[in-house]
Amino acid sequence: MRFSYCPDCGRPLIQKVLGDEGKVPWCESCDRPWFEMFPSAAIVLVVNDDGKVALLNQNYISTVYKNLVSGYIKPGESAEETALREVEEEIGVRLHAVELQFTRWFEKAGVLMVGFLGYTHDRALKLSCEVDAAGWFDPAEALALVHPKETGSVSGVLVDLYLQKRLTDAASQEALEELHARD
Ligand SMILES: [Zn+2]
Repeated sequence: MRFSYCPDCGRPLIQKVLGDEGKVPWCESCDRPWFEMFPSAAIVLVVNDDGKVALLNQNYISTVYKNLVSGYIKPGESAEETALREVEEEIGVRLHAVELQFTRWFEKAGVLMVGFLGYTHDRALKLSCEVDAAGWFDPAEALALVHPKETGSVSGVLVDLYLQKRLTDAASQEALEELHARD
């Protein structure tokens, strides 16, 4: 959101040079800048003990592709807290660990997305009214079910990243076993 008027006093903002920031929208009455604002959201690929991932059908977002759990960060919350809260709200499972993977600007919605892997021991899903259906999927299968990452989709990037991580983990496990076999 770009401000033309001061949200506090209503005075038209001027452009003022503010150090390294260059020109910023400034209220001369309140003597403060009004930087452009945008929402931030957490997006979570939930993984269970079998290595399966949770995908959601949310018809208000797409009737073609499945989604990951996601939600806006509330003032006062850390992105990790949002991740835990949203997962519990949307699919009713508790995470015992969250791992920050990346942050990414989602151009289509003008939102800064904070991507997590979230781990749960739970299997039973309890859906919120925002979710039409949900289930556990093999991650390789999941890649074809979410918005393709080529479209700028953050879901696609997160699923792909998890697949790469699993391959790397499997390779190092194999290398370890080989080492032990030589002993
Ligand atoms: Zn003002």
